[in-house]
Amino acid sequence: MSQRTFSIIKPDAVRKGYSAAILAEIEKAGFKIVSIKRLSISKAQAEGFYHVHAARPFFGELTEFMSSGPIFPMVLEKDNAIADLRKLMGATNPAQAEEGTIRKKFASSIGENAIHGSDAEDTAAFEIGYFFAGHELK
Ligand code: ADP
Ligand code: MG
Repeated sequence: MSQRTFSIIKPDAVRKGYSAAILAEIEKAGFKIVSIKRLSISKAQAEGFYHVHAARPFFGELTEFMSSGPIFPMVLEKDNAIADLRKLMGATNPAQAEEGTIRKKFASSIGENAIHGSDAEDTAAFEIGYFFAGHELK
């Protein structure tokens, strides 16, 4: 069944000029790009987005990084979109990511790892709503 998920091309990948190459991988894998925008977020906005990680030791580093430059938040659609995007992204640590995955190709470290993808239906719904209004999702 068709499903929507949420993704972000992170600041490291945007800085390195990988945005178009990552979008090409996403489209090649069969995802429809429902909505996309380019913007920069504040540290407070990054903290809100990643609130589930607030107690983690890397929370400060993560929210500094995510607010360090432009990002491309987007909503993607396909059958099994949530799980399939996670597969296409590869492991959080690019050193452990499988060959052919986006993180293997474009990420440089466990923190600066090129792409975000929702991990479940409830987080996808929260994350889509964090960046997109209903009228941007038709
Ligand atoms: P994923 O993005 O694969 O779902 P997590 O949800 O565990 O990974 O972590 C969210 C993000 O926090 C990661 O994508 C990465 O940018 C950052 N992160 C995770 N673990 C670490 C770590 N040990 N050190 C620094 N940053 C980390
Ligand atoms: Mg996660």
